[in-house]
Amino acid sequence: MFKLRIIKHWLTLFFRSKFNDREKLLQRQKRKLKVFEKEILNTAPYYQKMLSEGKDIDSFPIITKAEFMAHFNGINTVGLDRDACMKSAVDAEKNKTFDSEINGYTIGLSTGTSGNRGLFIASEDERAQWAASVFYKVVKPRLFKKQNVAFCLRANSDLYESVQSSFFSFKFYDIAAPIAELISSMQQRKPDILCAQPSLLLLLTAAKIEGKLDIVPTQIISYAEVLDDADRKKIESVFNLKITEIYQCTEGFLGHTCAYGTMHLNEDNIRFERQMIDNQRFQPIITDFVRKSQPVIRYLLNDVLVLRESPCPCGSAMTAIERIEGRTDDVLVGEDEVGELVYIFPDLVRRRIVWAGEHLDNYAAEQTSLKELILYVDIADEYYSETCKSIKEALSNLFNEKGIKDMQITCQKGLPPREQTAKMRRIFRSFEMAI
Ligand SMILES: [Zn+2]
Repeated sequence: MFKLRIIKHWLTLFFRSKFNDREKLLQRQKRKLKVFEKEILNTAPYYQKMLSEGKDIDSFPIITKAEFMAHFNGINTVGLDRDACMKSAVDAEKNKTFDSEINGYTIGLSTGTSGNRGLFIASEDERAQWAASVFYKVVKPRLFKKQNVAFCLRANSDLYESVQSSFFSFKFYDIAAPIAELISSMQQRKPDILCAQPSLLLLLTAAKIEGKLDIVPTQIISYAEVLDDADRKKIESVFNLKITEIYQCTEGFLGHTCAYGTMHLNEDNIRFERQMIDNQRFQPIITDFVRKSQPVIRYLLNDVLVLRESPCPCGSAMTAIERIEGRTDDVLVGEDEVGELVYIFPDLVRRRIVWAGEHLDNYAAEQTSLKELILYVDIADEYYSETCKSIKEALSNLFNEKGIKDMQITCQKGLPPREQTAKMRRIFRSFEMAI
C-alpha cells in the first residue's frame, strides 16, 4: 500500500509541468496557499481562530520552533496531544524500537542544535509523498539495473526501509554503529547510491584512500550537516563524481542541488519568505502547502542561506542558493570599540582557517563567550605549534578587519568531544545569544 502511494505521487510529479517561469511558479503558490487555508487551516484550532477574526495566511504570525511546540495541540489537524506524542517518541528512542506511532501517524523527534526538542507528525500519505519527492528530484534513474542504495541515518525508521522496489534495493546503516563495521558491511554490498552526512562521507573517503573501502558509487547524496567546500572537493575527487546535496530537516524537504551543482529551494511545495540579515544572507520563513496533519506555517528556521547572484544555467525558476552557511548559532559575535555587536559568518572563518592551516587533518572553532574563542586543531605533532600560530594570526587579522577588539584565541590539540551520532559542526557558538 505504501509503495503504491509512493508510485502514485511519483507519477504525479513526473507528469506535472516543469517550473521554468518564476511568475507562473509564484501564481501557483498563491493558488495552493488559498486552497490550503480554506481546506486545511480551517481545521487547525490555532489558525481557525485567526481566520474567524478575518486574518489570512499572509498575516498569520511568524513562529519559531518554541512557539510551534507551545501550540502543538492547536496547530495539528488530527487531534494529537503533545505530551502523549512526546512520551511515545521518547520511549521509542530509548527502547530503540523506532516505531513511534499514534493513530496511524508517525511521530518524529528532532533534537535541534540548541537542545530544544521538536515533535513532527506525518501521515502515511505524507511520508509516501516525501519519499516520492526525494526520489523524483534527487535520485538519478538508471534503466535495466537495480540500484543498491546505502542510507546512513541516526536512527532506524520504517520510512526508509519500506522502499524496496524493482528499481531500488535499500540498506539502512545506523551511524551509531562502529565505523569499522559500517565499512565492512558497505564493502560487501557495494552500494551504487551512497547517502550520508558529510562527516561520515569524510570517514568513508579516508577509508577509500587507505584502501579499506573499495566501492564505486555512481551517486553520492549528502544531507543533515553543512557540506563545506574543502570537504566537497576532497570527497568528489576521491569518488570522481559530483555530490548531490539535499537540504532537509525535520521541518521538511527544503531543497536540493541540480545537475549544475546549484542548490534550489523546493518552492513547488513550500513558500520561502526571507528574513534578510544583509544584502545576500537570509533566514527562511517557510510555509508548507503539502503537509496537512501538522501545518508548518510561517515558520522561521535558524538556518542562514546565501542567495546566488547569477541565475543557474539549468533554467529552474526556483530560487538558487549560493550555499547554506549554517545555523544562526554558528555565527560568531564580537564587540567593536564602542561596544556595538559585530557578526562574522562561519564560511569566512572556515576559509581563513583552511588557508592558514596547510597540514590540517581537521579543525573546529568554538566561541565560548563574547571575548573568547577556542581553536581545535587536529594535526600531526610536528606541525601543531606552527599551524596554531598561523591560524591564530589569520583569525586575529579577520577580527581586526571587522573591527572586533579583544578576542582571546586559545589553541587545543584534537577536536571537541562529539557523540558519534551528533551532527558535525566546525564553527559554532556555545553561549546563548539571539541574533
Ligand atoms: Zn540549477
